[in-house]
Amino acid sequence: MIESDLKKTNNHMNTQLNNETVLNTTLALCGGKPVLSKEELKNARLWPIYGEEEIAGAIEVMQRPADKIYGEMQTFEQELCAYFGSKYALSTNTGTAALNTAAFAIGLQKGDEVIVPSYTYWATTLLTQTVGAVPVFVDCESHTANLDPALIEAKITSRTKAISVVHLWGMPADMDGIMSLAKKYNLRVIEDCSHAHGAEYRGKKIGTIGDIGCFSLQNSKLMPAMEGGFLLTNNRDYHARSVAFGHYGRVPEDHEMHRFNATSFGNKYRIHPISCKLGRLALKKLDARNKVICDHVEKIKNSIRGLKGITLFEVPSHISRVYYQFEICYDESLTGVKKGKIIQALVAEGAWVGNERYPIQHQQNIYKEDSLWSAPVKVPDHLPVTESIHSQILELPIFAFCEEKVVDQYIAAFHKVWSQLSELKS
Ligand SMILES: *Cc1c(COP(=O)(O)O)cnc(C)c1O
Repeated sequence: MIESDLKKTNNHMNTQLNNETVLNTTLALCGGKPVLSKEELKNARLWPIYGEEEIAGAIEVMQRPADKIYGEMQTFEQELCAYFGSKYALSTNTGTAALNTAAFAIGLQKGDEVIVPSYTYWATTLLTQTVGAVPVFVDCESHTANLDPALIEAKITSRTKAISVVHLWGMPADMDGIMSLAKKYNLRVIEDCSHAHGAEYRGKKIGTIGDIGCFSLQNSKLMPAMEGGFLLTNNRDYHARSVAFGHYGRVPEDHEMHRFNATSFGNKYRIHPISCKLGRLALKKLDARNKVICDHVEKIKNSIRGLKGITLFEVPSHISRVYYQFEICYDESLTGVKKGKIIQALVAEGAWVGNERYPIQHQQNIYKEDSLWSAPVKVPDHLPVTESIHSQILELPIFAFCEEKVVDQYIAAFHKVWSQLSELKS
């Protein structure tokens, strides 16, 4: 979808509804009139949008003389350093490549243990595979769904070398707790920031607190560039090792890693030049887009807080979060209405609500086959908090490109459904 098409669909919307007029009217699931139309539904979920500027940018890169195409990378990396306040940046072809690179850069070796969360995309935990290290799963905090520092210490052994932490859905993890453990036990910290472009923790950009911050530029992310990624670090050695790992020909001359400049370590992780251009444009628009999303999401949160069975991930005052995804928890035992039924009822009203789509990691087969690992992964039978949150998740749109009216209609849909929960009990 491009911007000019969006304006057309926004202009077609004329439904105006507020909470009061729909409360206690027949649920759409029971044959009543839906709160939202199909068109409005579509707009709420739109992401990403590449506009005229992105299209012109892509064409401009293609039309360059061959020797000018890759200059884009250095420019992008300088802009990343400036925005994030980082000494070094390295663009990569995916976020996964950035994470695998980080595992090598910090010097992880065969048999080393890395503390990881279970509720995340697999690249946070499987960066261990790159270097023959082993993941050690730790449960999460119920109020953020992120790695719980209070549970990490019990899992630290003489082999523990690092913590790989995700900032799930854009909510920063407890970096004070994590960094103080890292200091105490001399551990490196890799931040997986693929959900958290632009988020801040005590005034510092996420991705600059640990040793290396890794980001994805994949199409669904808050900096969409089709595919791509980058990493940030303030450490000269980590930067040089990162370049040497997957970027032959770019290893800094004044670093001993330069001896591998002609080959890399068997990987080629260079970003696509068009993605690089799209990444630059996404960076330019990041803060403004994050603000629109936050305003819309916070409005909904403020309007549905207190509905029976709903729990929100509340944002602590020292955190400025972003929303890669907008997730809330719904506890069916508090209402007697099954989660599946609530989703059906909201969807019937035209409000898209989904189940969380990430499977949790400690339940996946890859961790169970000892032959794949330098030492068997000690997979926990249960991570109770992770499993409980995972079972309660409802995903809502992030409302990045829609009018506030649609946000209001979503709120109305929730209140309409909650005004007649008794209709939905089985
Ligand atoms: C998207 C994502 C990645 C991987 O990024 P790709 O660019 O898709 O390789 C890593 N971690 C998390 C948490 C992600 O969401």
